[in-house]
Amino acid sequence: MKRLLTAVTLATMALGASAQNYPEKPITIVVPFAAGGPTDKVARDLAEAIRKPLGGQVIIENVAGAGGTLGHTKVAKAGADGYTLLLAHVAMATAPALYRKLQYDALNDFEYLGLVNEVPMTLIARPTMPAANYGELAKWLDANKGKINLANAGLGSASHLCGLLFQQSTKIDMTTVPYKGTGPAMTDLIGGQVDLMCDQTTNTTGQISGGKVKAYAVTTTKRLTGEAVKNLPTLNEVGLKGFNVTIWHGLYAPKNTPKPVLDKVNAALKTALKDAQFIKNQEALGADIVDDGRVNPAEHKKFVEAEIAKWGPVIKAAGQYAD
Ligand code: ASP
Repeated sequence: MKRLLTAVTLATMALGASAQNYPEKPITIVVPFAAGGPTDKVARDLAEAIRKPLGGQVIIENVAGAGGTLGHTKVAKAGADGYTLLLAHVAMATAPALYRKLQYDALNDFEYLGLVNEVPMTLIARPTMPAANYGELAKWLDANKGKINLANAGLGSASHLCGLLFQQSTKIDMTTVPYKGTGPAMTDLIGGQVDLMCDQTTNTTGQISGGKVKAYAVTTTKRLTGEAVKNLPTLNEVGLKGFNVTIWHGLYAPKNTPKPVLDKVNAALKTALKDAQFIKNQEALGADIVDDGRVNPAEHKKFVEAEIAKWGPVIKAAGQYAD
């Protein structure tokens, strides 16, 4: 018994020492969508801002596919040492209702580190879409039933949810075209291979102001103020009552990551969210950084629990499932 206690004490001391020296090697933030998309953009900005307060190198790894769940799985099963973190969005809360064979438990296989930001979405179309405003788009949708393609980033992604609500609200079924992220989907939309997409402003404002895509509406209940989107109506205004989608991002670590490491990352995250360059970049992309009180593990987890409860019935009503 004494020998066992000594072993446990030594192991705890070793863990304490390594947690104290954390980080001793580069930290990887897994992005569960393709490079060049909105989640990737937020993660790369965050990596820049968090590097200094963490005191170590931060690398981004894109583990894309299956609506973000491949990346979530990778982090759920990674070493609980603080060297693999996950920046995930709403898919963390939608996947439990969508995927029958999820390899992780969203609420029990992660340590929650804090929320990061909230990002509105925009309804955009290929540049050749023959509609100057939402009214004309609605007529085009009616006239083209059965032929409309809607790009998304896979089941459970933000673009999937927004597209699902859009189809439910307009009562028009569209053919969804899944990508590994809306970065590659955007390339095809610009090229005219798909008709429509709903995507975060973090990916769309540059393309809207550059005239690369057409924009018709925002998904929030209030109009947005950013230069590229300030003249767009809300989907509520154009008649899709109750339409309200905002996407959030949060930072996670594998379950059982030592508390001192979690505390260090949480403190660094708080500092990073106050970084002047990070604030400037996020504002330019139309993202709202969350208040300090939400950069908190308990608040973050409570929020995800509420999001799981909110999206579950929407997804079940739409009858969408994947293995
Ligand atoms: N915006 C994507 C989505 O629809 C994800 C991404 O590519 O970042 O969820």
